Amino acid sequence: MEIAAAGKKHIDYALPAAAFLYGKTVGEIKLEKSNRFRSIKQNKSDFRPLEGSGKGSKRPAANVSKKTEQEKRSSQRYRTQQTVKPQQQCPYYKKCGGCQLQNLDYPQQLSYKQHLVEKLLRGYGPVQPIIGMENPLHYRNKVSAAFSTDRNGRTISGVYQSSTHRIVPVDRCMIEDQIADEIIVTIRKLLKSFRIEPYNEYREYGLLRHVLIKRGFATGEVMVVLVTASPIFPAKNRFVQALREKHPEIVTVVQNINSGFTSMVLGEQEKILYGKGYIEDILCGCRFRISAKSFYQINPVQTQRLYSSAISLAELTGNETVLDAYCGIGTIGLIASSKAGQVIGVELNRDAVRDAISNAKCNQIQNIRFFCDDAGDFMVQMAQNRQKVDVVFMDPPRAGSDEAFLQSVATLRPEKVVYISCNPETLARDLKSITRKGYQVKHIQPVDMFPFTSHVETVVLLSKLNTKQHIVEE
Ligand code: SAH
Repeated sequence: MEIAAAGKKHIDYALPAAAFLYGKTVGEIKLEKSNRFRSIKQNKSDFRPLEGSGKGSKRPAANVSKKTEQEKRSSQRYRTQQTVKPQQQCPYYKKCGGCQLQNLDYPQQLSYKQHLVEKLLRGYGPVQPIIGMENPLHYRNKVSAAFSTDRNGRTISGVYQSSTHRIVPVDRCMIEDQIADEIIVTIRKLLKSFRIEPYNEYREYGLLRHVLIKRGFATGEVMVVLVTASPIFPAKNRFVQALREKHPEIVTVVQNINSGFTSMVLGEQEKILYGKGYIEDILCGCRFRISAKSFYQINPVQTQRLYSSAISLAELTGNETVLDAYCGIGTIGLIASSKAGQVIGVELNRDAVRDAISNAKCNQIQNIRFFCDDAGDFMVQMAQNRQKVDVVFMDPPRAGSDEAFLQSVATLRPEKVVYISCNPETLARDLKSITRKGYQVKHIQPVDMFPFTSHVETVVLLSKLNTKQHIVEE
């Protein structure tokens, strides 16, 4: 079995995340491309205060009369949940490009995302009001910083300027975990006293390329990953000790070696410099082990809402065979396992599967098995073996699923499919395919996992149509 490096689900800074929308209007908000970076132009007259609502609560005006009763009820519900006032703009906003919705206040961001999902999925039925955050700041539990030197030879750390390899120095970010940001600043200062050179990719000289921090929000455990250009790390033990003295919450330090000419943060090779090489976190009552390379949702507050919504839509009775496809470290399957007969998890990333197996043991869950394989290939195999599956949870990366997987869903014919998507465009494409194969969309629930960015997560429940007449063979 060939194991490829895992696809990164949520692309971090530097990439034109909302590129597919530029020049298009979503709701009343138009995304435009400016000379050097992307920004969102918003016509102030497009927004008007809500009658009887507090300061800062605004909504797009133009479509109001055209809205259906259901849409009106929807937007009313999510508006009243949100109380966050417009944010002070981030000083790095224009260069960083990570927060594409920075100049909208939070209710406007939710409105934008609601419209986006409605626009793409409107043919499948009503879209539930998006689940937003009470406090949409500092939610990211995974933070990475690129290191280099500026023109004067000073060490800098920060994010790549949108679509470039130029580093914008950043010390504090409004969506990142604050402790993680502080640790990155400490590391930058320590480099100087330890005379460690950051890596300069143009001169191909120096050691430290990136720092990646992961923090368990429930446990407070912190992992530091030092990504170096070479395996030789002089005075590494003293460096780690000095770092831990300043930040005792660090429970493990990993050196990751990335010597390639690549825009990927992590390389293949890893060495544990301190601790166990992983951290733990608690979500929905289960304990999870998270390694440097395993995918773990970056917004734990909303992840609990996302998972609860996905699992409750499946209405498990305790007897079902459940497939958790693209399972990562096994989170959804493990949380759902107490309500199911048995669970099968499939995931391509070997480290994530190792974490998933250990998570099952740690939570004393026995009705679950994990397989390291391509989800599409695995499903084809299951279909050939005529294996019985009642419910499929699928949570693919941004690129969505593939036809082999969807065709095998049609062959296995589970009663329900719960599709969790971080990209409504590929979701719309896959829904088109799956609804032609005898499935019907029953429920669409957007969740705001990434405030201030243009990304939106959506959970969709599909259920099997009882007649084969609806199946269009492709
Ligand atoms: N459900 C998990 C992970 C979702 S992220 C969670 O909520 O945490 C998507 C996962 O799909 C990643 O772990 C990635 O490694 C995995 N993946 C990407 N391509 C895959 C493929 N072709 N087959 C199986 N897993 C894949």
